[in-house]
Amino acid sequence: MNIILLGYPGAGKGTQAEILVKEYDFEHISTGDMIRKEIALATPLGKAVEKGISQGNLVRDEQIIKLVEQVLKRGRQSHIFDGFPRTIPQAESLRISLSVLRQKIDYVLFLELSKEEVIKRLTSRRVCSKCGAIFNIYDKSFTGSCSCGGNLITRSDDTLESAKHRLEVFEKQTRPLVDYYESSIGVKRLDASKEAREVHNEILRAIGLKK
Ligand SMILES: [Zn+2]
Repeated sequence: MNIILLGYPGAGKGTQAEILVKEYDFEHISTGDMIRKEIALATPLGKAVEKGISQGNLVRDEQIIKLVEQVLKRGRQSHIFDGFPRTIPQAESLRISLSVLRQKIDYVLFLELSKEEVIKRLTSRRVCSKCGAIFNIYDKSFTGSCSCGGNLITRSDDTLESAKHRLEVFEKQTRPLVDYYESSIGVKRLDASKEAREVHNEILRAIGLKK
């Protein structure tokens, strides 16, 4: 079974993929993680990607597809795609790569969240400038300070401006992809504002693994 997880940044795609992998025999395909690993290992692909990024370019579609194909060729039958495909050309390539392996996308799940909630989640992180501890300002245990006495700061990725930008990128890049799947295999929408466990149960029901 192959599942694509779509959703706003902060909707919990990575968390949900991890729970599914732990409980079922899925391979988690997170292209973000795969690219970071290629770069860390300084593979030819990793070096090419790093060079592109340093010149301000996005990772090219064919580079990402090559990475995904390497994983698919291992012959597993169940994958969860998280952060991929991100564009319609990537979605088309994935469809072809899977059909060569006599596989297909079985479900496209869209983790829905209001824009207000997305902004709230994306701007809730604080980091201790001294020891690097990470906090969420909405956690019950959050006291506004770190036990080491260091100052808590908001990283540039976690500002309101950055959150708004990520939402814009989503609308521009991923929204057409939602429409693309809507008009082909269909998209199941799930309420991602619930607790992670509840969202997980909803996913299981959506893919027929639970009644
Ligand atoms: Zn600290």
